[in-house]
Amino acid sequence: MFIVPERSIAELMTRADAFDAVEQVFAAMAAGDAYNFPVIREAIGHQDALYGFKGGFDRAGLNLGLKAGGYWPNNLAQRGLINHQSTVFLFDPDTGMPTAMVGGNLLTALRTAAASSVSIKHLACPDAKVLGMIGAGHQATFQLRAALEQRNFERVLGWNYHPEMLPNIAKVAQEAGVEFQEASLEDMRQADVIISITSAFAPSLMRDHVSAGCHIACMGTDTKGKQELDPAILADARVFTDEIAQSITIGEAQHAIASGLIQDSDITEVGAVINGTHAGRQSDHDITVFDGTGVGLQDLAVAAKVVELAKAQGIAIEVDF
Ligand code: NAD
Repeated sequence: MFIVPERSIAELMTRADAFDAVEQVFAAMAAGDAYNFPVIREAIGHQDALYGFKGGFDRAGLNLGLKAGGYWPNNLAQRGLINHQSTVFLFDPDTGMPTAMVGGNLLTALRTAAASSVSIKHLACPDAKVLGMIGAGHQATFQLRAALEQRNFERVLGWNYHPEMLPNIAKVAQEAGVEFQEASLEDMRQADVIISITSAFAPSLMRDHVSAGCHIACMGTDTKGKQELDPAILADARVFTDEIAQSITIGEAQHAIASGLIQDSDITEVGAVINGTHAGRQSDHDITVFDGTGVGLQDLAVAAKVVELAKAQGIAIEVDF
Protein backbone atom coordinates (compact mmCIF):
# COMPACT_ATOMS: atom_id res chain seq x y z
CA MET A 1 0.00 0.00 0.00
CA PHE A 2 0.99 3.62 -0.40
CA ILE A 3 1.22 6.44 2.11
CA VAL A 4 0.85 10.08 1.12
CA PRO A 5 1.58 12.15 4.23
CA GLU A 6 -0.10 15.42 5.07
CA ARG A 7 3.10 17.36 4.33
CA SER A 8 3.02 16.24 0.66
CA ILE A 9 -0.56 17.21 -0.14
CA ALA A 10 0.01 20.93 -0.79
CA GLU A 11 2.59 20.29 -3.51
CA LEU A 12 0.44 17.61 -5.19
CA MET A 13 -3.18 18.68 -5.19
CA THR A 14 -4.47 21.63 -7.21
CA ARG A 15 -7.83 23.38 -6.90
CA ALA A 16 -8.59 22.26 -10.46
CA ASP A 17 -7.96 18.60 -9.61
CA ALA A 18 -10.11 18.86 -6.49
CA PHE A 19 -12.89 20.51 -8.48
CA ASP A 20 -12.88 17.77 -11.14
CA ALA A 21 -12.81 14.96 -8.56
CA VAL A 22 -15.74 16.42 -6.60
CA GLU A 23 -17.79 17.25 -9.71
CA GLN A 24 -17.35 13.67 -10.96
CA VAL A 25 -18.31 12.04 -7.70
CA PHE A 26 -21.40 14.27 -7.25
CA ALA A 27 -22.45 13.17 -10.74
CA ALA A 28 -21.84 9.50 -9.85
CA MET A 29 -23.92 9.87 -6.65
CA ALA A 30 -26.88 11.31 -8.54
CA ALA A 31 -26.62 8.57 -11.17
CA GLY A 32 -26.79 5.92 -8.42
CA ASP A 33 -23.22 4.76 -9.08
CA ALA A 34 -21.82 5.94 -5.75
CA TYR A 35 -23.19 5.99 -2.25
CA ASN A 36 -22.14 7.17 1.19
CA PHE A 37 -22.29 5.00 4.28
CA PRO A 38 -24.04 6.30 7.40
CA VAL A 39 -21.85 8.80 9.24
CA ILE A 40 -20.47 7.90 12.67
CA ARG A 41 -19.61 10.82 14.97
CA GLU A 42 -18.94 10.26 18.66
CA ALA A 43 -17.94 12.36 21.64
CA ILE A 44 -15.27 9.96 22.90
CA GLY A 45 -15.10 11.34 26.46
CA HIS A 46 -11.38 12.07 26.19
CA GLN A 47 -9.80 15.48 25.49
CA ASP A 48 -13.34 16.76 24.67
CA ALA A 49 -12.78 15.20 21.23
CA LEU A 50 -15.36 14.40 18.58
CA TYR A 51 -14.27 11.46 16.44
CA GLY A 52 -15.94 9.66 13.58
CA PHE A 53 -15.96 8.07 10.14
CA LYS A 54 -17.32 9.12 6.77
CA GLY A 55 -17.10 6.44 4.11
CA GLY A 56 -18.59 5.18 0.91
CA PHE A 57 -18.14 3.34 -2.35
CA ASP A 58 -17.94 4.86 -5.81
CA ARG A 59 -18.58 2.08 -8.34
CA ALA A 60 -17.83 4.44 -11.22
CA GLY A 61 -14.48 5.64 -9.89
CA LEU A 62 -13.80 2.37 -7.99
CA ASN A 63 -13.02 4.22 -4.77
CA LEU A 64 -13.81 2.40 -1.54
CA GLY A 65 -12.83 3.65 1.89
CA LEU A 66 -13.33 6.11 4.66
CA LYS A 67 -12.11 9.27 6.29
CA ALA A 68 -11.44 8.88 10.01
CA GLY A 69 -11.03 11.96 12.11
CA GLY A 70 -12.66 14.71 14.03
CA TYR A 71 -12.11 17.69 16.27
CA TRP A 72 -9.69 17.94 19.22
CA PRO A 73 -10.36 21.36 20.77
CA ASN A 74 -7.19 21.40 22.91
CA ASN A 75 -4.72 20.58 20.14
CA LEU A 76 -3.70 24.11 19.20
CA ALA A 77 -3.41 25.56 22.69
CA GLN A 78 -1.75 22.54 24.32
CA ARG A 79 0.26 20.96 21.50
CA GLY A 80 0.58 23.44 18.63
CA LEU A 81 -1.39 21.08 16.37
CA ILE A 82 -4.47 21.98 14.35
CA ASN A 83 -7.77 21.08 16.02
CA HIS A 84 -9.34 19.29 13.02
CA GLN A 85 -7.46 16.04 12.30
CA SER A 86 -8.32 13.49 9.64
CA THR A 87 -6.82 10.66 7.61
CA VAL A 88 -8.27 8.94 4.53
CA PHE A 89 -7.95 5.16 4.04
CA LEU A 90 -8.56 3.61 0.61
CA PHE A 91 -9.18 -0.08 -0.13
CA ASP A 92 -9.15 -2.23 -3.25
CA PRO A 93 -12.85 -2.85 -4.01
CA ASP A 94 -11.97 -6.19 -5.64
CA THR A 95 -10.17 -7.66 -2.62
CA GLY A 96 -10.67 -5.45 0.44
CA MET A 97 -6.90 -5.00 0.72
CA PRO A 98 -5.79 -1.53 1.89
CA THR A 99 -4.29 0.50 -0.95
CA ALA A 100 -3.52 3.87 0.57
CA MET A 101 -3.40 6.05 3.67
CA VAL A 102 -3.56 9.77 2.92
CA GLY A 103 -3.33 12.90 5.07
CA GLY A 104 -6.83 14.37 5.13
CA ASN A 105 -6.51 17.84 6.68
CA LEU A 106 -5.71 20.02 3.66
CA LEU A 107 -7.75 17.70 1.44
CA THR A 108 -10.83 18.44 3.57
CA ALA A 109 -10.50 22.17 2.93
CA LEU A 110 -9.86 21.64 -0.78
CA ARG A 111 -12.77 19.25 -1.28
CA THR A 112 -15.14 21.51 0.69
CA ALA A 113 -14.15 24.54 -1.38
CA ALA A 114 -14.51 22.44 -4.53
CA ALA A 115 -18.09 21.54 -3.54
CA SER A 116 -19.26 25.14 -3.30
CA SER A 117 -17.37 25.95 -6.51
CA VAL A 118 -19.16 23.10 -8.31
CA SER A 119 -22.47 24.57 -7.11
CA ILE A 120 -21.51 28.04 -8.32
CA LYS A 121 -20.52 26.66 -11.72
CA HIS A 122 -23.83 24.86 -12.17
CA LEU A 123 -26.30 27.10 -10.32
CA ALA A 124 -25.14 30.74 -10.16
CA CYS A 125 -26.15 33.28 -12.80
CA PRO A 126 -23.50 33.34 -15.52
CA ASP A 127 -22.91 37.09 -15.18
CA ALA A 128 -22.47 37.07 -11.38
CA LYS A 129 -20.23 39.99 -10.35
CA VAL A 130 -20.55 40.40 -6.58
CA LEU A 131 -19.56 37.63 -4.15
CA GLY A 132 -20.72 37.81 -0.54
CA MET A 133 -18.75 35.96 2.14
CA ILE A 134 -20.24 35.13 5.53
CA GLY A 135 -17.44 33.68 7.63
CA ALA A 136 -13.75 34.42 7.79
CA GLY A 137 -12.23 31.38 9.46
CA HIS A 138 -9.98 28.61 8.17
CA GLN A 139 -12.39 27.20 5.58
CA ALA A 140 -13.52 30.63 4.38
CA THR A 141 -10.14 31.41 2.84
CA PHE A 142 -10.24 28.21 0.77
CA GLN A 143 -13.88 28.82 -0.19
CA LEU A 144 -13.16 32.32 -1.44
CA ARG A 145 -10.02 31.39 -3.36
CA ALA A 146 -11.86 28.64 -5.25
CA ALA A 147 -15.09 30.59 -5.84
CA LEU A 148 -13.25 33.50 -7.46
CA GLU A 149 -12.26 31.11 -10.28
CA GLN A 150 -15.87 30.30 -11.19
CA ARG A 151 -17.17 33.69 -12.37
CA ASN A 152 -15.75 37.12 -13.29
CA PHE A 153 -16.31 38.51 -9.82
CA GLU A 154 -15.49 42.21 -9.49
CA ARG A 155 -16.18 42.72 -5.79
CA VAL A 156 -16.20 40.67 -2.58
CA LEU A 157 -18.43 41.71 0.34
CA GLY A 158 -17.32 40.23 3.66
CA TRP A 159 -19.30 39.92 6.89
CA ASN A 160 -18.24 37.95 9.94
CA TYR A 161 -19.64 37.49 13.43
CA HIS A 162 -16.11 38.21 14.66
CA PRO A 163 -15.16 41.21 12.47
CA GLU A 164 -11.53 41.09 13.59
CA MET A 165 -11.15 37.93 11.44
CA LEU A 166 -12.15 39.68 8.18
CA PRO A 167 -8.53 40.42 7.16
CA ASN A 168 -8.17 36.63 6.57
CA ILE A 169 -10.50 36.81 3.57
CA ALA A 170 -9.62 40.38 2.55
CA LYS A 171 -6.08 39.10 1.92
CA VAL A 172 -7.35 36.32 -0.38
CA ALA A 173 -9.45 38.79 -2.42
CA GLN A 174 -6.55 41.21 -2.68
CA GLU A 175 -4.17 38.46 -3.81
CA ALA A 176 -6.68 37.58 -6.55
CA GLY A 177 -6.91 41.25 -7.58
CA VAL A 178 -10.57 41.60 -6.57
CA GLU A 179 -11.90 44.56 -4.56
CA PHE A 180 -12.86 43.67 -0.96
CA GLN A 181 -15.37 45.56 1.19
CA GLU A 182 -16.36 44.95 4.79
CA ALA A 183 -20.12 44.72 4.63
CA SER A 184 -23.29 44.51 6.69
CA LEU A 185 -25.72 41.62 6.29
CA GLU A 186 -28.08 44.09 4.57
CA ASP A 187 -25.32 44.78 2.00
CA MET A 188 -25.59 41.11 0.98
CA ARG A 189 -28.63 42.19 -1.10
CA GLN A 190 -26.03 43.35 -3.66
CA ALA A 191 -24.50 39.87 -3.90
CA ASP A 192 -25.07 37.56 -6.86
CA VAL A 193 -23.46 34.67 -4.98
CA ILE A 194 -23.15 34.24 -1.19
CA ILE A 195 -20.98 31.65 0.55
CA SER A 196 -21.79 30.98 4.17
CA ILE A 197 -19.09 29.07 6.09
CA THR A 198 -19.41 29.53 9.83
CA SER A 199 -19.79 27.28 12.86
CA ALA A 200 -22.98 29.10 13.94
CA PHE A 201 -25.97 27.54 15.69
CA ALA A 202 -28.34 30.39 14.75
CA PRO A 203 -29.02 32.06 11.41
CA SER A 204 -27.13 35.18 10.32
CA LEU A 205 -28.45 35.58 6.76
CA MET A 206 -32.16 36.43 6.80
CA ARG A 207 -34.65 36.28 3.94
CA ASP A 208 -34.62 40.06 3.36
CA HIS A 209 -30.81 40.02 3.00
CA VAL A 210 -31.10 37.98 -0.21
CA SER A 211 -32.07 39.37 -3.62
CA ALA A 212 -33.75 37.57 -6.48
CA GLY A 213 -31.27 35.69 -8.64
CA CYS A 214 -28.80 35.02 -5.83
CA HIS A 215 -27.05 31.68 -5.44
CA ILE A 216 -26.16 30.75 -1.85
CA ALA A 217 -23.62 28.04 -1.06
CA CYS A 218 -24.32 27.19 2.57
CA MET A 219 -21.26 25.22 3.68
CA GLY A 220 -20.90 25.56 7.45
CA THR A 221 -23.86 23.48 8.62
CA ASP A 222 -22.60 19.90 8.87
CA THR A 223 -23.99 18.82 12.24
CA LYS A 224 -27.37 18.56 13.90
CA GLY A 225 -28.22 21.92 15.46
CA LYS A 226 -25.89 24.12 13.41
CA GLN A 227 -27.64 26.80 11.34
CA GLU A 228 -26.60 29.68 9.08
CA LEU A 229 -29.69 30.65 7.07
CA ASP A 230 -33.20 31.83 7.85
CA PRO A 231 -35.34 28.79 6.88
CA ALA A 232 -37.58 31.20 4.93
CA ILE A 233 -34.75 31.49 2.38
CA LEU A 234 -34.98 27.76 1.65
CA ALA A 235 -38.76 28.00 1.42
CA ASP A 236 -38.40 30.60 -1.36
CA ALA A 237 -35.44 28.94 -3.11
CA ARG A 238 -34.68 26.02 -5.36
CA VAL A 239 -32.73 23.83 -2.94
CA PHE A 240 -29.84 21.60 -3.99
CA THR A 241 -27.42 19.51 -1.95
CA ASP A 242 -24.62 16.99 -2.16
CA GLU A 243 -26.71 14.22 -0.53
CA ILE A 244 -30.36 14.47 0.51
CA ALA A 245 -30.04 12.10 3.49
CA GLN A 246 -27.38 14.35 5.04
CA SER A 247 -29.07 17.60 4.01
CA ILE A 248 -32.25 16.83 5.96
CA THR A 249 -30.49 15.49 9.07
CA ILE A 250 -27.22 17.39 9.54
CA GLY A 251 -27.35 20.04 6.79
CA GLU A 252 -29.01 23.42 6.59
CA ALA A 253 -32.28 21.91 5.33
CA GLN A 254 -32.82 20.20 8.73
CA HIS A 255 -34.39 23.45 9.99
CA ALA A 256 -36.70 24.19 7.04
CA ILE A 257 -37.79 20.54 7.13
CA ALA A 258 -38.43 20.62 10.90
CA SER A 259 -40.54 23.76 10.59
CA GLY A 260 -42.52 22.23 7.72
CA LEU A 261 -41.45 24.87 5.19
CA ILE A 262 -40.00 22.33 2.74
CA GLN A 263 -40.07 18.57 2.24
CA ASP A 264 -37.40 16.07 1.19
CA SER A 265 -38.91 16.06 -2.29
CA ASP A 266 -38.14 19.79 -2.65
CA ILE A 267 -34.38 19.06 -2.51
CA THR A 268 -32.32 17.97 -5.53
CA GLU A 269 -28.82 16.52 -5.61
CA VAL A 270 -26.53 18.87 -7.50
CA GLY A 271 -25.22 15.83 -9.36
CA ALA A 272 -28.53 15.71 -11.22
CA VAL A 273 -27.79 19.17 -12.60
CA ILE A 274 -24.25 18.09 -13.53
CA ASN A 275 -25.70 15.01 -15.31
CA GLY A 276 -28.32 17.12 -17.10
CA THR A 277 -31.27 15.26 -15.57
CA HIS A 278 -32.38 18.39 -13.67
CA ALA A 279 -32.51 21.88 -15.18
CA GLY A 280 -31.08 23.56 -12.05
CA ARG A 281 -31.67 27.31 -12.09
CA GLN A 282 -34.67 28.06 -14.30
CA SER A 283 -34.64 31.87 -14.40
CA ASP A 284 -32.43 34.85 -13.57
CA HIS A 285 -34.81 35.53 -10.67
CA ASP A 286 -34.54 32.14 -8.96
CA ILE A 287 -32.83 32.04 -5.61
CA THR A 288 -30.78 28.84 -5.48
CA VAL A 289 -29.33 27.28 -2.33
CA PHE A 290 -26.65 24.61 -2.25
CA ASP A 291 -26.70 22.83 1.12
CA GLY A 292 -23.13 21.50 1.21
CA THR A 293 -22.99 18.99 4.05
CA GLY A 294 -19.71 17.28 3.15
CA VAL A 295 -19.83 13.61 2.16
CA GLY A 296 -17.25 10.85 2.57
CA LEU A 297 -17.17 10.22 -1.18
CA GLN A 298 -15.70 13.70 -1.67
CA ASP A 299 -12.82 12.72 0.60
CA LEU A 300 -12.24 9.44 -1.22
CA ALA A 301 -12.32 11.18 -4.61
CA VAL A 302 -9.66 13.75 -3.76
CA ALA A 303 -7.55 11.21 -1.85
CA ALA A 304 -7.58 8.83 -4.83
CA LYS A 305 -6.45 11.69 -7.08
CA VAL A 306 -3.61 12.56 -4.70
CA VAL A 307 -2.43 8.95 -4.63
CA GLU A 308 -2.43 8.91 -8.44
CA LEU A 309 -0.39 12.14 -8.54
CA ALA A 310 2.00 11.00 -5.80
CA LYS A 311 2.68 7.70 -7.60
CA ALA A 312 3.22 9.48 -10.92
CA GLN A 313 5.70 11.86 -9.30
CA GLY A 314 7.47 9.09 -7.38
CA ILE A 315 6.76 10.57 -3.95
CA ALA A 316 4.17 8.09 -2.66
CA ILE A 317 5.74 6.03 0.15
CA GLU A 318 5.25 2.32 -0.57
CA VAL A 319 5.00 -0.04 2.41
CA ASP A 320 4.72 -3.81 2.44
CA PHE A 321 1.55 -4.31 4.48
P1 NAD B 1 -13.16 28.33 12.12
O1 NAD B 1 -13.22 28.06 13.58
O2 NAD B 1 -11.84 28.58 11.48
O3 NAD B 1 -14.12 29.56 11.77
C1 NAD B 1 -15.42 29.63 12.32
C2 NAD B 1 -16.21 30.73 11.64
O4 NAD B 1 -17.52 30.76 12.23
C3 NAD B 1 -15.63 32.12 11.84
O5 NAD B 1 -15.94 32.91 10.71
C4 NAD B 1 -16.37 32.61 13.07
O6 NAD B 1 -16.40 34.02 13.18
C5 NAD B 1 -17.75 32.05 12.77
N1 NAD B 1 -18.60 31.95 13.95
C6 NAD B 1 -18.27 31.39 15.15
N2 NAD B 1 -19.33 31.50 16.00
C7 NAD B 1 -20.31 32.12 15.32
C8 NAD B 1 -21.64 32.50 15.63
N3 NAD B 1 -22.15 32.27 16.84
N4 NAD B 1 -22.38 33.11 14.68
C9 NAD B 1 -21.88 33.34 13.45
N5 NAD B 1 -20.64 33.00 13.09
C10 NAD B 1 -19.86 32.40 14.01
O7 NAD B 1 -13.90 27.08 11.46
P2 NAD B 1 -13.74 26.53 9.97
O8 NAD B 1 -12.71 25.46 9.97
O9 NAD B 1 -13.60 27.66 9.02
O10 NAD B 1 -15.16 25.80 9.76
C11 NAD B 1 -16.33 26.56 9.59
C12 NAD B 1 -17.52 25.62 9.55
O11 NAD B 1 -17.46 24.79 8.38
C13 NAD B 1 -17.62 24.66 10.73
O12 NAD B 1 -18.97 24.60 11.15
C14 NAD B 1 -17.19 23.34 10.15
O13 NAD B 1 -17.73 22.23 10.85
C15 NAD B 1 -17.77 23.47 8.76
N6 NAD B 1 -17.21 22.56 7.74
C16 NAD B 1 -18.06 22.07 6.81
C17 NAD B 1 -17.58 21.23 5.83
C18 NAD B 1 -18.51 20.70 4.77
O14 NAD B 1 -18.12 19.80 4.02
N7 NAD B 1 -19.70 21.24 4.63
C19 NAD B 1 -16.23 20.87 5.80
C20 NAD B 1 -15.37 21.42 6.75
C21 NAD B 1 -15.86 22.28 7.72
